[in-house]
Amino acid sequence: MLYTMTSPETNEHKRVLVAAPRGYCAGVDRAVETVERALEKYGSPVYVRKEIVHNRYVVDTLAERGAIFVDETNEVPEGSHLVFSAHGVSPAVHESAAKLDLKTLDATCPLVTKVHNEVKRFARDGFHILLVGHEGHEEVEGTAGEAPDVTHLVDGVEGVAALPEWLQEEKLVWLSQTTLSVDETMEIVKKLHERFAHLQDPPSDDICYATQNRQVAVKAIAAESDLVIVVGSQNSSNSKRLVEVALQAGARASYLVDYASQIEESWLEGVNTVGVTSGASVPEILVRDVLEWLAARGFENPKEVTTAAEKITFALPRDLRAPRTNKA
Ligand code: SF4
Repeated sequence: MLYTMTSPETNEHKRVLVAAPRGYCAGVDRAVETVERALEKYGSPVYVRKEIVHNRYVVDTLAERGAIFVDETNEVPEGSHLVFSAHGVSPAVHESAAKLDLKTLDATCPLVTKVHNEVKRFARDGFHILLVGHEGHEEVEGTAGEAPDVTHLVDGVEGVAALPEWLQEEKLVWLSQTTLSVDETMEIVKKLHERFAHLQDPPSDDICYATQNRQVAVKAIAAESDLVIVVGSQNSSNSKRLVEVALQAGARASYLVDYASQIEESWLEGVNTVGVTSGASVPEILVRDVLEWLAARGFENPKEVTTAAEKITFALPRDLRAPRTNKA
């Protein structure tokens, strides 16, 4: 159900709808806490391969506390502590870390690990895997790296036609990146089935609960919103999908911002209802800043529109499970 603001006087038409669920998912929470706890337990520096999660604020905050972000394992001094990001890594990266005698902590989201395990199982059973996902995304690189010889990336609907014809002769199954648009993925899968009649579906959907819940929630506010502001970083796949989903669901305009300071005054011209949400790697403090920015312009009393309750949590990597004494 949508709520209507009934504030008197000048702002009677201005309202803000805030989607719920939004922000941190269980996998991001676990990954960020992994780095925090590693810093507490081992001291600085703790190295992190790639951005622990795709959010500028989170990365900058952890860097200030002593985390050092690197692109590859060979940038890490021998014997150091290295955290693998929430997006997962290929077996080749694990091997390279082992050669350097790095003490690794794996913050890969368990829902990404589930897709890795599916790739291994289907490859073992003689399948070729059509992996729906975005080229160059770290998660896709890690997942495909489990069985690179039999994994074929399908990036968008155009990717279906680009697949080689000889795959008609092979056992085929499709899997996907965890942070895609549900609707767009179903469209791609439909095209895959049209081209490969014998294509097998996976046992369960790979698009994770958090991605799906945030898309359902933004849909619930988008149809009533003139403008939807999505808080998230440009390299965050699930955040970018929220902008697309908002536009498809009826928002007149939608923008992705890291910080409130990136919102442009002109976006509010002719706007009565602003929708606000955030990607799965975004701390709530950044949403609060956006709501304050809007309130200062007459968009007050935000109303939350809740479409699901989330209670999922994931256990930390084993070495870091002791109770915390000084959580920052
Ligand atoms: S968005 Fe989904 S797959 Fe990615 S970290 Fe969060 S729960 Fe895990």
